[in-house]
Amino acid sequence: MKHLPLFVLLALALAACAPQSRVPEISRKAAEEEARKQREIVVLERMKVQDRLRRVDFAVRAANVDLCKEKAPAVGFLTMDRDSAPPEYRDAYASLYGVTRQMTVISVFGGGPAARAELAVGDRIVSVNGKIIGGGSSGRSRVAKLIAEGKGRPLSLMVRRGVALVPVELTPAMVCNYPTFLRNDDSVNAFADGSRIIVTSGLMRFAEADDELAFVIGHELAHNTMGHIEAKTGNMILGGIVGAILTGLSGVNVIDPMMQVGVLAFSQEFEAEADYVGVYYAAKAGYDTKKAAYFWRRMAAAHPRAIGLQGTTHPSSAKRFLAVEAATREVAGKRARGEPLVPYMKSSRKRASKPAGSGPTQ
Ligand SMILES: [Zn+2]
Repeated sequence: MKHLPLFVLLALALAACAPQSRVPEISRKAAEEEARKQREIVVLERMKVQDRLRRVDFAVRAANVDLCKEKAPAVGFLTMDRDSAPPEYRDAYASLYGVTRQMTVISVFGGGPAARAELAVGDRIVSVNGKIIGGGSSGRSRVAKLIAEGKGRPLSLMVRRGVALVPVELTPAMVCNYPTFLRNDDSVNAFADGSRIIVTSGLMRFAEADDELAFVIGHELAHNTMGHIEAKTGNMILGGIVGAILTGLSGVNVIDPMMQVGVLAFSQEFEAEADYVGVYYAAKAGYDTKKAAYFWRRMAAAHPRAIGLQGTTHPSSAKRFLAVEAATREVAGKRARGEPLVPYMKSSRKRASKPAGSGPTQ
C-alpha cells in the first residue's frame, strides 16, 4: 500500500466522494445543438422585450413631440448585418431573420412608421432615396444620415424580399429626440442622462402593464425635457464653489461633501416633478395612468424599505402613488373640460386655479 503512488490514492479517495447514480451521457454534438437552439431563444426573447419597449417608447415620444424642443424623425425598424451581430449570436440572427452582410430588417414594431409602410422582418435594404446601401458600419451610418437629413420627409426604400426587389415608401414620424435604450441588467431601474433614456431588462419584467412602462418612460423623458440633469450638474458645481470657499476659510477640505450636497439639492422635488409631468406624457400617448400608479404599490411590495424612507434622493413610494393618482385626476378633469393636456407650471398654476368670475380659491 505504501508503494502506491500518491495520485492513485487521491483518485481512489475522490472516487469515494463521486455521485453514485448512473446519469445519461450527453454527447458533445447534442449539447452543441441544444446550445444553438438556446441562443435562438435568447435572441427571440430579447427581441420581444425590445419590440415592446420601442412600441411604447415611440407612442410616448411621438404624442409629446410638440412639448419637446429637440425633435428627430423615427422610422420604426431595426436593422442588423452579420458584422454588427455579436459573434456568438451570428448564426442565430442568420437563421431567425436571414441576416447577411447586407443590412437586414430584424424588427418592425406594431403601429410605427415602418409597420404602416409594410416593411417586413427579413427585408434587406438595397437603397434609400436612390442611394445604394452597402453592408457594414458604412451602410449603417449612411442610412442613419439619410433618415436624419430627411427631417421627416418620406423615404423611398428599395428592399430585397426573398428574390424580389420591392419598393417601400416610408414616412418617418417626428418624436422627442431622447432615444431610449434597453440595458441587459436584472436590476429594476431606468434613468435619463440629459440626452437619452435607459431602461433595464429588470424593469421591463417588473412593469407588467404597458401603462406602467409608458409612465416610467414619461418620467425619464420629463427629466430630460425639464432640464433636471443640467440643473443637478449646476447645483453640483455650485456646491463645489461653496465648498472651495469654505475650505479656504476653514482649512478643512469640504469640496467633495459640498458637491454631494449640491447634487442632492432638490433631488426629491425633481423626482416629484418627473412623476407629475410623466403622467401627462403617458396620458397624452393614450395610456391609463390610473393603472400606472399601481407601479408604486407593487414597488412597495417588492421593496418595503421604499415605503417610509425619508431624506433620500426619491420621495417615498406612498407619496409617489398618491401623487400619480392626483395627477391622473387632474388630467381627467382637463380632458372632461376639453382643455389641452399640458402640465401646470408654477407661473400658470395661479391663473388656472382662479377661473374668471369665480371667488377666491384654495
Ligand atoms: Zn427619476
